[in-house]
Amino acid sequence: MQLTVWTYEGPPHVGAMRVATVLTDVHYVLHAPQGDTYADLLFTMIERRGARPPVTYTTFQARDLGGDTAELFKQSVREACERFRPAAVLVGASCTAELIQDDPGGLARALGLGIPVIPLELPAYQRKENWGASETFYHLVRALAGPSAPPPGTPRPARPADRRPRCNLLGPTALGFRHRDDVVEVTRLLASMGVDVSVVAPLGASAADVARLGEADFNVVLYPETGRQAATWLARSFCQPMVDVVPIGVGATRDFIAAVAAVAGVDPAPALAAETARSPWYARSVDSTYLTGKRVFVFGDATHAVAAARVARDELGFTVVGLGTYQREFAREVRTAAALYGLEALITDDYLEVEASIAGLHPELVLGTQMERHIAKRLGVPCAVISAPVHVQDFPARYSPQMGFEGANVLFDSWVHPLMMGLEEHLLGMFRDDPEFADGAAPSHLASVAPIAAAPAEPILAPVAASPVPVPAPVPVTGPVAATGPDWTAEAERELRKIPFFVRGKARRNTEIFARDKGCASITVETLYDAKAHFGR
Ligand code: SF4
Repeated sequence: MQLTVWTYEGPPHVGAMRVATVLTDVHYVLHAPQGDTYADLLFTMIERRGARPPVTYTTFQARDLGGDTAELFKQSVREACERFRPAAVLVGASCTAELIQDDPGGLARALGLGIPVIPLELPAYQRKENWGASETFYHLVRALAGPSAPPPGTPRPARPADRRPRCNLLGPTALGFRHRDDVVEVTRLLASMGVDVSVVAPLGASAADVARLGEADFNVVLYPETGRQAATWLARSFCQPMVDVVPIGVGATRDFIAAVAAVAGVDPAPALAAETARSPWYARSVDSTYLTGKRVFVFGDATHAVAAARVARDELGFTVVGLGTYQREFAREVRTAAALYGLEALITDDYLEVEASIAGLHPELVLGTQMERHIAKRLGVPCAVISAPVHVQDFPARYSPQMGFEGANVLFDSWVHPLMMGLEEHLLGMFRDDPEFADGAAPSHLASVAPIAAAPAEPILAPVAASPVPVPAPVPVTGPVAATGPDWTAEAERELRKIPFFVRGKARRNTEIFARDKGCASITVETLYDAKAHFGR
Protein backbone atom coordinates (compact mmCIF):
# COMPACT_ATOMS: atom_id res chain seq x y z
CA MET A 1 0.00 0.00 0.00
CA GLN A 2 1.24 3.49 -0.84
CA LEU A 3 0.57 6.56 1.24
CA THR A 4 -0.39 9.51 -0.91
CA VAL A 5 -1.68 13.04 -0.54
CA TRP A 6 -4.05 12.87 -3.48
CA THR A 7 -5.71 9.95 -5.18
CA TYR A 8 -7.60 9.57 -8.45
CA GLU A 9 -9.99 7.01 -7.03
CA GLY A 10 -11.23 6.17 -3.56
CA PRO A 11 -11.75 2.65 -2.19
CA PRO A 12 -14.41 0.49 -3.88
CA HIS A 13 -17.06 1.18 -1.21
CA VAL A 14 -17.04 4.82 -2.39
CA GLY A 15 -17.96 3.44 -5.82
CA ALA A 16 -20.84 1.56 -4.18
CA MET A 17 -21.92 4.83 -2.57
CA ARG A 18 -21.91 6.54 -5.98
CA VAL A 19 -24.48 4.00 -7.11
CA ALA A 20 -26.57 3.89 -3.93
CA THR A 21 -26.72 7.69 -3.73
CA VAL A 22 -28.53 8.11 -7.05
CA LEU A 23 -31.05 5.31 -6.53
CA THR A 24 -34.33 6.54 -5.11
CA ASP A 25 -35.25 3.79 -2.65
CA VAL A 26 -32.21 1.61 -2.00
CA HIS A 27 -30.18 1.87 1.21
CA TYR A 28 -26.55 0.88 1.79
CA VAL A 29 -25.40 -0.39 5.16
CA LEU A 30 -21.64 -0.19 5.42
CA HIS A 31 -19.69 -1.98 8.12
CA ALA A 32 -17.06 0.67 8.68
CA PRO A 33 -15.05 2.45 11.37
CA GLN A 34 -16.01 5.84 12.68
CA GLY A 35 -13.80 7.81 10.26
CA ASP A 36 -15.54 6.49 7.16
CA THR A 37 -18.40 8.95 7.42
CA TYR A 38 -16.01 11.42 5.70
CA ALA A 39 -17.29 9.93 2.42
CA ASP A 40 -20.60 11.78 2.90
CA LEU A 41 -18.76 15.02 2.22
CA LEU A 42 -17.87 13.95 -1.31
CA PHE A 43 -21.54 14.05 -2.14
CA THR A 44 -22.74 16.97 -0.05
CA MET A 45 -19.75 19.29 -0.45
CA ILE A 46 -18.20 18.37 -3.81
CA GLU A 47 -21.36 17.47 -5.71
CA ARG A 48 -23.54 19.82 -3.63
CA ARG A 49 -26.35 17.30 -3.28
CA GLY A 50 -29.17 18.49 -1.10
CA ALA A 51 -29.29 15.34 1.04
CA ARG A 52 -26.92 12.95 2.73
CA PRO A 53 -26.22 9.71 0.82
CA PRO A 54 -28.59 6.86 1.82
CA VAL A 55 -25.82 5.14 3.75
CA THR A 56 -25.77 3.86 7.32
CA TYR A 57 -22.34 3.23 8.81
CA THR A 58 -21.85 0.91 11.75
CA THR A 59 -19.10 3.31 12.90
CA PHE A 60 -17.41 0.80 15.19
CA GLN A 61 -14.60 2.07 17.38
CA ALA A 62 -11.45 0.47 18.68
CA ARG A 63 -13.17 -0.63 21.89
CA ASP A 64 -15.87 -2.46 19.87
CA LEU A 65 -13.31 -4.75 18.28
CA GLY A 66 -13.08 -6.87 21.40
CA GLY A 67 -16.89 -7.24 21.47
CA ASP A 68 -19.58 -8.42 19.10
CA THR A 69 -19.17 -6.38 15.93
CA ALA A 70 -21.48 -8.79 14.07
CA GLU A 71 -24.32 -7.86 16.41
CA LEU A 72 -23.51 -4.19 15.88
CA PHE A 73 -23.85 -4.71 12.14
CA LYS A 74 -27.19 -6.56 12.45
CA GLN A 75 -28.55 -3.83 14.67
CA SER A 76 -27.50 -1.17 12.14
CA VAL A 77 -29.24 -3.00 9.30
CA ARG A 78 -32.40 -3.46 11.34
CA GLU A 79 -32.54 0.17 12.37
CA ALA A 80 -31.78 1.45 8.86
CA CYS A 81 -34.59 -0.62 7.36
CA GLU A 82 -37.06 0.48 10.00
CA ARG A 83 -36.14 4.13 9.61
CA PHE A 84 -35.72 4.45 5.82
CA ARG A 85 -38.06 1.66 4.60
CA PRO A 86 -35.96 0.90 1.50
CA ALA A 87 -37.17 -1.35 -1.33
CA ALA A 88 -33.79 -3.14 -1.29
CA VAL A 89 -30.66 -2.99 0.82
CA LEU A 90 -27.00 -3.16 -0.20
CA VAL A 91 -24.62 -4.43 2.48
CA GLY A 92 -20.85 -4.47 2.57
CA ALA A 93 -17.67 -3.66 4.43
CA SER A 94 -15.04 -0.96 4.07
CA CYS A 95 -11.29 -1.67 4.09
CA THR A 96 -10.85 -2.00 7.84
CA ALA A 97 -14.13 -3.85 8.40
CA GLU A 98 -13.12 -6.32 5.71
CA LEU A 99 -10.37 -7.50 8.04
CA ILE A 100 -12.89 -8.33 10.79
CA GLN A 101 -14.59 -10.86 8.46
CA ASP A 102 -18.10 -10.42 9.83
CA ASP A 103 -19.90 -11.51 6.59
CA PRO A 104 -22.38 -8.62 6.16
CA GLY A 105 -24.36 -10.50 3.49
CA GLY A 106 -25.00 -13.56 5.64
CA LEU A 107 -25.82 -11.48 8.70
CA ALA A 108 -28.32 -9.28 6.84
CA ARG A 109 -30.03 -12.20 5.12
CA ALA A 110 -30.48 -13.93 8.46
CA LEU A 111 -32.57 -10.99 9.64
CA GLY A 112 -35.49 -11.92 7.32
CA LEU A 113 -36.08 -8.34 6.26
CA GLY A 114 -38.61 -9.14 3.53
CA ILE A 115 -36.75 -7.06 0.92
CA PRO A 116 -33.91 -8.02 -1.44
CA VAL A 117 -30.54 -8.00 0.33
CA ILE A 118 -27.62 -7.50 -2.04
CA PRO A 119 -24.24 -8.34 -0.53
CA LEU A 120 -21.22 -6.56 -1.99
CA GLU A 121 -17.81 -8.23 -1.92
CA LEU A 122 -15.51 -5.31 -2.71
CA PRO A 123 -11.85 -6.21 -2.08
CA ALA A 124 -10.58 -2.85 -0.94
CA TYR A 125 -6.93 -3.78 -1.07
CA GLN A 126 -6.97 -4.81 -4.73
CA ARG A 127 -9.68 -2.71 -6.35
CA LYS A 128 -10.80 0.91 -6.54
CA GLU A 129 -13.76 3.21 -6.79
CA ASN A 130 -14.88 2.80 -10.42
CA TRP A 131 -14.57 -0.96 -10.18
CA GLY A 132 -16.65 -0.80 -6.99
CA ALA A 133 -19.36 1.21 -8.76
CA SER A 134 -19.46 -1.22 -11.67
CA GLU A 135 -19.58 -4.26 -9.41
CA THR A 136 -22.32 -2.74 -7.26
CA PHE A 137 -24.49 -1.85 -10.25
CA TYR A 138 -23.96 -5.30 -11.77
CA HIS A 139 -25.01 -7.12 -8.57
CA LEU A 140 -27.97 -4.80 -8.13
CA VAL A 141 -29.16 -5.52 -11.70
CA ARG A 142 -28.64 -9.26 -11.30
CA ALA A 143 -30.50 -9.35 -8.01
CA LEU A 144 -33.47 -7.19 -9.07
CA ALA A 145 -33.85 -7.90 -12.81
CA GLY A 146 -32.66 -11.52 -12.63
CA PRO A 147 -35.97 -13.00 -11.42
CA SER A 148 -37.72 -11.86 -14.63
CA ALA A 149 -35.04 -13.19 -17.00
CA PRO A 150 -36.38 -15.79 -19.46
CA PRO A 151 -34.89 -19.31 -19.53
CA PRO A 152 -31.43 -19.31 -21.16
CA GLY A 153 -31.56 -19.45 -24.96
CA THR A 154 -35.06 -17.94 -25.23
CA PRO A 155 -35.10 -15.67 -28.31
CA ARG A 156 -36.15 -12.08 -27.76
CA PRO A 157 -39.70 -11.41 -29.05
CA ALA A 158 -39.88 -8.90 -31.91
CA ARG A 159 -40.91 -5.33 -31.05
CA PRO A 160 -44.61 -4.72 -31.84
CA ALA A 161 -44.85 -2.68 -35.04
CA ASP A 162 -46.98 0.01 -33.36
CA ARG A 163 -44.52 0.69 -30.53
CA ARG A 164 -41.52 3.01 -30.79
CA PRO A 165 -38.16 1.44 -29.97
CA ARG A 166 -37.01 2.00 -26.39
CA CYS A 167 -33.71 1.66 -24.62
CA ASN A 168 -32.15 1.96 -21.18
CA LEU A 169 -29.34 4.41 -20.42
CA LEU A 170 -26.80 2.66 -18.21
CA GLY A 171 -23.90 3.93 -16.15
CA PRO A 172 -24.56 7.47 -14.85
CA THR A 173 -23.79 7.77 -11.13
CA ALA A 174 -23.20 10.37 -8.47
CA LEU A 175 -19.82 12.16 -8.63
CA GLY A 176 -19.58 11.45 -12.35
CA PHE A 177 -18.32 14.13 -14.71
CA ARG A 178 -21.46 15.90 -16.05
CA HIS A 179 -23.51 12.68 -15.92
CA ARG A 180 -26.69 14.55 -15.03
CA ASP A 181 -26.51 16.77 -18.14
CA ASP A 182 -25.29 14.00 -20.44
CA VAL A 183 -28.43 12.01 -19.65
CA VAL A 184 -30.63 14.98 -20.63
CA GLU A 185 -28.69 15.54 -23.86
CA VAL A 186 -28.66 11.89 -24.93
CA THR A 187 -32.35 11.49 -24.08
CA ARG A 188 -33.11 14.45 -26.38
CA LEU A 189 -30.95 13.03 -29.13
CA LEU A 190 -32.68 9.65 -28.89
CA ALA A 191 -36.10 11.33 -28.92
CA SER A 192 -35.13 13.12 -32.14
CA MET A 193 -34.54 9.65 -33.61
CA GLY A 194 -37.91 8.33 -32.43
CA VAL A 195 -36.33 6.24 -29.64
CA ASP A 196 -37.77 6.37 -26.10
CA VAL A 197 -35.79 5.94 -22.92
CA SER A 198 -37.30 3.25 -20.72
CA VAL A 199 -35.04 3.41 -17.65
CA VAL A 200 -31.99 5.48 -16.73
CA ALA A 201 -29.92 3.58 -14.16
CA PRO A 202 -28.55 3.89 -11.63
CA LEU A 203 -29.10 7.70 -11.79
CA GLY A 204 -32.66 8.36 -10.66
CA ALA A 205 -33.84 4.73 -10.80
CA SER A 206 -35.95 2.93 -8.21
CA ALA A 207 -35.57 -0.74 -7.35
CA ALA A 208 -38.68 -1.40 -9.47
CA ASP A 209 -37.09 0.43 -12.43
CA VAL A 210 -33.99 -1.73 -12.17
CA ALA A 211 -36.21 -4.82 -12.04
CA ARG A 212 -37.74 -3.92 -15.43
CA LEU A 213 -34.50 -3.21 -17.29
CA GLY A 214 -35.06 -6.35 -19.38
CA GLU A 215 -38.17 -4.84 -20.99
CA ALA A 216 -36.29 -2.35 -23.19
CA ASP A 217 -35.24 -3.28 -26.73
CA PHE A 218 -31.59 -2.45 -26.15
CA ASN A 219 -29.15 -0.80 -23.77
CA VAL A 220 -27.05 2.31 -24.28
CA VAL A 221 -23.89 2.24 -22.17
CA LEU A 222 -22.97 5.84 -21.52
CA TYR A 223 -20.08 5.13 -19.18
CA PRO A 224 -18.42 1.75 -19.75
CA GLU A 225 -16.56 2.04 -16.43
CA THR A 226 -19.79 1.68 -14.51
CA GLY A 227 -22.34 0.35 -17.01
CA ARG A 228 -20.73 -2.17 -19.32
CA GLN A 229 -20.57 -5.10 -16.88
CA ALA A 230 -24.31 -4.89 -16.18
CA ALA A 231 -25.09 -4.38 -19.87
CA THR A 232 -23.07 -7.47 -20.77
CA TRP A 233 -25.08 -9.50 -18.28
CA LEU A 234 -28.35 -8.07 -19.65
CA ALA A 235 -27.23 -8.97 -23.18
CA ARG A 236 -26.67 -12.56 -22.06
CA SER A 237 -29.78 -12.90 -19.94
CA PHE A 238 -32.34 -10.91 -21.97
CA CYS A 239 -30.76 -10.98 -25.45
CA GLN A 240 -30.65 -7.19 -25.27
CA PRO A 241 -28.20 -5.66 -27.74
CA MET A 242 -25.86 -2.99 -26.43
CA VAL A 243 -24.69 0.30 -27.94
CA ASP A 244 -21.44 1.37 -26.31
CA VAL A 245 -20.32 4.16 -28.63
CA VAL A 246 -19.76 7.10 -26.29
CA PRO A 247 -21.15 10.24 -28.01
CA ILE A 248 -18.48 12.74 -26.93
CA GLY A 249 -17.56 15.04 -29.83
CA VAL A 250 -19.27 15.61 -33.15
CA GLY A 251 -17.71 12.61 -34.88
CA ALA A 252 -18.54 10.22 -32.04
CA THR A 253 -22.08 11.62 -31.81
CA ARG A 254 -22.57 10.86 -35.51
CA ASP A 255 -21.21 7.34 -34.90
CA PHE A 256 -23.57 6.98 -31.94
CA ILE A 257 -26.57 7.99 -34.05
CA ALA A 258 -25.59 5.43 -36.70
CA ALA A 259 -25.12 2.67 -34.09
CA VAL A 260 -28.46 3.40 -32.38
CA ALA A 261 -30.25 3.59 -35.74
CA ALA A 262 -28.88 0.17 -36.72
CA VAL A 263 -29.98 -1.48 -33.46
CA ALA A 264 -33.34 0.31 -33.22
CA GLY A 265 -34.20 -0.03 -36.90
CA VAL A 266 -34.76 3.70 -37.43
CA ASP A 267 -33.53 6.17 -40.03
CA PRO A 268 -30.48 8.12 -38.78
CA ALA A 269 -30.82 10.85 -41.44
CA PRO A 270 -33.16 13.26 -39.58
CA ALA A 271 -31.00 13.28 -36.42
CA LEU A 272 -27.84 13.76 -38.47
CA ALA A 273 -29.47 16.56 -40.46
CA ALA A 274 -30.57 18.27 -37.25
CA GLU A 275 -26.98 18.54 -36.00
CA THR A 276 -26.77 21.65 -33.84
CA ALA A 277 -23.04 21.76 -33.06
CA ARG A 278 -21.44 25.12 -33.75
CA SER A 279 -18.05 23.73 -32.79
CA PRO A 280 -17.02 22.39 -36.26
CA TRP A 281 -17.50 25.83 -37.84
CA TYR A 282 -15.95 27.65 -34.91
CA ALA A 283 -12.95 25.33 -35.09
CA ARG A 284 -12.49 26.23 -38.77
CA SER A 285 -12.99 29.95 -38.23
CA VAL A 286 -10.11 32.41 -38.56
CA ASP A 287 -10.22 32.96 -34.82
CA SER A 288 -9.26 29.38 -34.11
CA THR A 289 -6.91 28.38 -36.88
CA TYR A 290 -3.92 29.84 -35.11
CA LEU A 291 -4.55 27.11 -32.54
CA THR A 292 -3.98 24.38 -35.11
CA GLY A 293 -1.23 22.01 -34.08
CA LYS A 294 -1.28 23.05 -30.41
CA ARG A 295 0.33 20.31 -28.33
CA VAL A 296 -2.19 18.74 -25.97
CA PHE A 297 -1.74 16.28 -23.12
CA VAL A 298 -4.82 14.17 -22.23
CA PHE A 299 -5.33 12.21 -19.01
CA GLY A 300 -8.44 11.00 -17.20
CA ASP A 301 -10.82 8.10 -16.90
CA ALA A 302 -10.57 5.89 -19.97
CA THR A 303 -13.88 6.95 -21.55
CA HIS A 304 -13.25 10.67 -21.36
CA ALA A 305 -9.54 10.49 -22.15
CA VAL A 306 -10.01 8.42 -25.32
CA ALA A 307 -12.91 10.62 -26.46
CA ALA A 308 -11.01 13.84 -25.71
CA ALA A 309 -7.99 12.75 -27.73
CA ARG A 310 -10.20 12.08 -30.74
CA VAL A 311 -11.94 15.44 -30.47
CA ALA A 312 -8.65 17.26 -29.89
CA ARG A 313 -7.02 15.89 -33.02
CA ASP A 314 -9.91 15.36 -35.43
CA GLU A 315 -12.18 18.26 -34.53
CA LEU A 316 -9.92 20.98 -33.18
CA GLY A 317 -6.73 20.27 -35.11
CA PHE A 318 -4.52 19.88 -32.03
CA THR A 319 -1.56 17.53 -31.81
CA VAL A 320 -1.97 14.90 -29.09
CA VAL A 321 1.43 14.52 -27.41
CA GLY A 322 0.34 12.46 -24.40
CA LEU A 323 -2.60 10.20 -23.54
CA GLY A 324 -3.22 8.20 -20.40
CA THR A 325 -5.55 6.94 -17.73
CA TYR A 326 -5.50 6.07 -14.04
CA GLN A 327 -7.85 3.14 -14.66
CA ARG A 328 -5.80 0.00 -15.02
CA GLU A 329 -8.93 -2.02 -15.90
CA PHE A 330 -9.19 0.00 -19.11
CA ALA A 331 -5.50 0.08 -20.00
CA ARG A 332 -6.04 -1.95 -23.17
CA GLU A 333 -8.58 0.53 -24.60
CA VAL A 334 -6.34 3.49 -23.86
CA ARG A 335 -3.24 1.78 -25.28
CA THR A 336 -5.15 1.04 -28.49
CA ALA A 337 -6.27 4.68 -28.72
CA ALA A 338 -2.77 6.00 -27.98
CA ALA A 339 -1.35 3.92 -30.82
CA LEU A 340 -3.53 5.94 -33.22
CA TYR A 341 -1.50 9.02 -32.29
CA GLY A 342 1.82 7.22 -32.38
CA LEU A 343 2.05 7.35 -28.57
CA GLU A 344 2.64 4.98 -25.73
CA ALA A 345 -0.21 5.32 -23.23
CA LEU A 346 0.56 6.49 -19.71
CA ILE A 347 -1.20 4.04 -17.37
CA THR A 348 -0.66 5.10 -13.79
CA ASP A 349 -2.50 6.25 -10.71
CA ASP A 350 0.55 8.11 -9.43
CA TYR A 351 -0.04 11.82 -10.01
CA LEU A 352 3.66 12.55 -9.56
CA GLU A 353 4.38 10.36 -12.56
CA VAL A 354 1.71 12.24 -14.52
CA GLU A 355 3.27 15.53 -13.48
CA ALA A 356 6.71 14.40 -14.63
CA SER A 357 5.27 13.33 -17.96
CA ILE A 358 3.51 16.67 -18.48
CA ALA A 359 6.62 18.61 -17.52
CA GLY A 360 8.72 16.58 -19.94
CA LEU A 361 6.34 16.88 -22.88
CA HIS A 362 5.86 20.68 -22.67
CA PRO A 363 2.23 20.66 -23.87
CA GLU A 364 0.42 23.91 -24.60
CA LEU A 365 -2.88 22.58 -23.23
CA VAL A 366 -3.65 19.95 -20.60
CA LEU A 367 -6.99 18.14 -20.62
CA GLY A 368 -7.30 16.14 -17.43
CA THR A 369 -8.85 15.67 -14.03
CA GLN A 370 -8.81 17.99 -11.06
CA MET A 371 -5.32 16.62 -10.39
CA GLU A 372 -3.95 17.65 -13.78
CA ARG A 373 -5.58 21.03 -13.30
CA HIS A 374 -3.38 21.53 -10.23
CA ILE A 375 -0.33 20.27 -12.11
CA ALA A 376 -0.99 22.50 -15.14
CA LYS A 377 -1.54 25.49 -12.89
CA ARG A 378 1.81 24.90 -11.23
CA LEU A 379 3.50 24.61 -14.60
CA GLY A 380 1.68 27.64 -16.02
CA VAL A 381 0.00 25.66 -18.80
CA PRO A 382 -3.65 26.30 -19.86
CA CYS A 383 -5.92 23.47 -18.76
CA ALA A 384 -9.50 22.20 -18.93
CA VAL A 385 -11.09 19.45 -16.83
CA ILE A 386 -12.54 16.56 -18.84
CA SER A 387 -12.99 13.76 -16.34
CA ALA A 388 -13.57 12.73 -12.73
CA PRO A 389 -12.16 13.13 -10.13
CA VAL A 390 -13.33 16.69 -10.08
CA HIS A 391 -13.75 19.51 -7.66
CA VAL A 392 -16.79 21.51 -6.65
CA GLN A 393 -16.60 23.93 -9.61
CA ASP A 394 -17.03 21.02 -11.99
CA PHE A 395 -20.62 20.60 -10.87
CA PRO A 396 -21.83 23.81 -12.48
CA ALA A 397 -25.29 25.20 -11.87
CA ARG A 398 -25.81 25.69 -15.60
CA TYR A 399 -26.53 23.00 -18.19
CA SER A 400 -23.15 21.77 -19.35
CA PRO A 401 -23.15 18.33 -21.00
CA GLN A 402 -20.16 16.65 -22.59
CA MET A 403 -22.17 14.36 -24.85
CA GLY A 404 -24.14 14.99 -28.03
CA PHE A 405 -23.95 18.04 -30.27
CA GLU A 406 -24.49 20.47 -27.41
CA GLY A 407 -21.74 18.65 -25.53
CA ALA A 408 -19.41 19.29 -28.48
CA ASN A 409 -20.15 23.01 -28.15
CA VAL A 410 -19.30 22.83 -24.45
CA LEU A 411 -16.01 21.06 -25.23
CA PHE A 412 -15.07 23.76 -27.72
CA ASP A 413 -15.78 26.54 -25.24
CA SER A 414 -14.09 24.94 -22.30
CA TRP A 415 -10.95 23.78 -24.12
CA VAL A 416 -10.33 26.66 -26.51
CA HIS A 417 -10.99 29.51 -24.11
CA PRO A 418 -8.14 28.60 -21.73
CA LEU A 419 -5.83 28.73 -24.75
CA MET A 420 -7.15 32.15 -25.70
CA MET A 421 -6.75 33.33 -22.14
CA GLY A 422 -3.20 32.00 -22.22
CA LEU A 423 -2.61 34.01 -25.37
CA GLU A 424 -4.03 37.12 -23.77
CA GLU A 425 -1.69 36.69 -20.82
CA HIS A 426 1.14 36.36 -23.29
CA LEU A 427 0.14 39.53 -25.13
CA LEU A 428 -0.25 41.43 -21.90
CA GLY A 429 3.23 40.35 -20.92
CA MET A 430 4.72 41.32 -24.27
CA PHE A 431 3.06 44.71 -24.36
CA ARG A 432 3.29 45.56 -20.69
CA ASP A 433 5.49 48.55 -21.50
CA ASP A 434 3.19 49.83 -24.20
CA PRO A 435 1.42 53.08 -23.20
CA GLU A 436 -1.94 51.59 -24.11
CA PHE A 437 -1.45 49.03 -21.35
CA ALA A 438 -0.16 51.51 -18.81
CA ASP A 439 -2.22 52.35 -15.74
CA GLY A 440 -4.58 55.21 -16.46
CA ALA A 441 -4.49 54.79 -20.24
CA ALA A 442 -7.85 55.05 -21.96
CA PRO A 443 -8.99 52.08 -24.01
CA SER A 444 -7.23 52.23 -27.39
CA HIS A 445 -10.45 51.52 -29.31
CA LEU A 446 -12.06 54.71 -28.01
CA ALA A 447 -10.34 57.19 -30.26
CA SER A 448 -12.56 60.09 -29.12
CA VAL A 449 -11.57 59.53 -25.51
CA ALA A 450 -7.84 59.25 -26.07
CA PRO A 451 -6.76 60.08 -29.59
CA ILE A 452 -3.58 58.18 -30.34
CA ALA A 453 -2.12 61.16 -32.18
CA ALA A 454 -2.39 63.20 -28.96
CA ALA A 455 -0.09 60.88 -27.07
CA PRO A 456 3.31 62.54 -26.55
CA ALA A 457 6.21 60.71 -28.14
CA GLU A 458 8.83 60.95 -25.41
CA PRO A 459 6.87 59.62 -22.43
CA ILE A 460 5.81 56.73 -24.62
CA LEU A 461 9.31 55.74 -25.48
CA ALA A 462 11.04 56.50 -22.23
CA PRO A 463 9.67 53.57 -20.22
CA VAL A 464 10.29 51.27 -23.15
CA ALA A 465 13.91 52.28 -23.33
CA ALA A 466 14.22 51.82 -19.60
CA SER A 467 12.65 48.38 -19.70
CA PRO A 468 14.58 45.96 -17.51
CA VAL A 469 13.26 43.00 -19.52
CA PRO A 470 16.20 41.12 -20.98
CA VAL A 471 15.82 40.86 -24.73
CA PRO A 472 17.93 38.88 -27.15
CA ALA A 473 20.61 40.70 -29.11
CA PRO A 474 19.23 42.19 -32.30
CA VAL A 475 19.56 40.01 -35.34
CA PRO A 476 20.89 41.89 -38.39
CA VAL A 477 18.17 42.44 -40.93
CA THR A 478 18.95 40.50 -44.08
CA GLY A 479 17.03 39.33 -47.15
CA PRO A 480 15.14 41.14 -49.84
CA VAL A 481 13.24 43.54 -47.59
CA ALA A 482 16.41 44.66 -45.82
CA ALA A 483 18.20 45.05 -49.09
CA THR A 484 15.62 47.40 -50.52
CA GLY A 485 13.94 48.97 -47.49
CA PRO A 486 15.12 51.47 -44.89
CA ASP A 487 17.53 50.18 -42.26
CA TRP A 488 16.34 49.31 -38.79
CA THR A 489 18.19 50.86 -35.89
CA ALA A 490 19.36 48.38 -33.30
CA GLU A 491 16.94 49.86 -30.77
CA ALA A 492 13.96 49.55 -33.13
CA GLU A 493 14.94 46.00 -34.00
CA ARG A 494 15.05 45.20 -30.29
CA GLU A 495 11.63 46.76 -29.85
CA LEU A 496 10.24 44.76 -32.76
CA ARG A 497 11.33 41.54 -31.11
CA LYS A 498 9.06 42.24 -28.17
CA ILE A 499 6.08 41.79 -30.46
CA PRO A 500 4.70 38.22 -30.40
CA PHE A 501 6.14 36.06 -33.14
CA PHE A 502 2.82 35.46 -34.88
CA VAL A 503 2.27 39.18 -35.63
CA ARG A 504 5.93 40.26 -35.81
CA GLY A 505 6.30 39.66 -39.56
CA LYS A 506 3.27 41.78 -40.31
CA ALA A 507 4.46 44.55 -37.99
CA ARG A 508 7.85 44.55 -39.76
CA ARG A 509 6.29 44.74 -43.23
CA ASN A 510 3.83 47.48 -42.28
CA THR A 511 6.55 49.55 -40.62
CA GLU A 512 8.78 49.32 -43.69
CA ILE A 513 5.93 50.32 -46.01
CA PHE A 514 5.16 53.27 -43.73
CA ALA A 515 8.85 54.30 -43.56
CA ARG A 516 9.24 54.15 -47.34
CA ASP A 517 6.04 56.20 -47.85
CA LYS A 518 7.32 58.82 -45.42
CA GLY A 519 10.81 58.79 -46.97
CA CYS A 520 12.52 57.76 -43.72
CA ALA A 521 16.16 56.79 -44.16
CA SER A 522 16.09 54.46 -41.17
CA ILE A 523 13.49 52.95 -38.88
CA THR A 524 13.68 54.09 -35.29
CA VAL A 525 11.50 53.11 -32.33
CA GLU A 526 9.52 56.26 -33.04
CA THR A 527 8.90 55.16 -36.65
CA LEU A 528 7.71 51.80 -35.37
CA TYR A 529 5.14 53.42 -33.06
CA ASP A 530 4.11 55.94 -35.72
CA ALA A 531 3.52 53.08 -38.13
CA LYS A 532 1.53 51.26 -35.47
CA ALA A 533 -0.64 54.33 -34.89
CA HIS A 534 -1.03 54.86 -38.64
CA PHE A 535 -2.22 51.33 -39.36
CA GLY A 536 -4.28 51.21 -36.20
CA ARG A 537 -6.46 54.10 -37.33
S1 SF4 B 1 -11.74 1.80 6.34
FE1 SF4 B 1 -10.57 2.29 4.52
S2 SF4 B 1 -11.66 4.03 3.61
FE2 SF4 B 1 -12.40 3.81 5.67
S3 SF4 B 1 -11.13 5.24 6.84
FE3 SF4 B 1 -10.14 3.22 6.96
S4 SF4 B 1 -8.68 3.21 5.30
FE4 SF4 B 1 -10.09 4.90 4.91
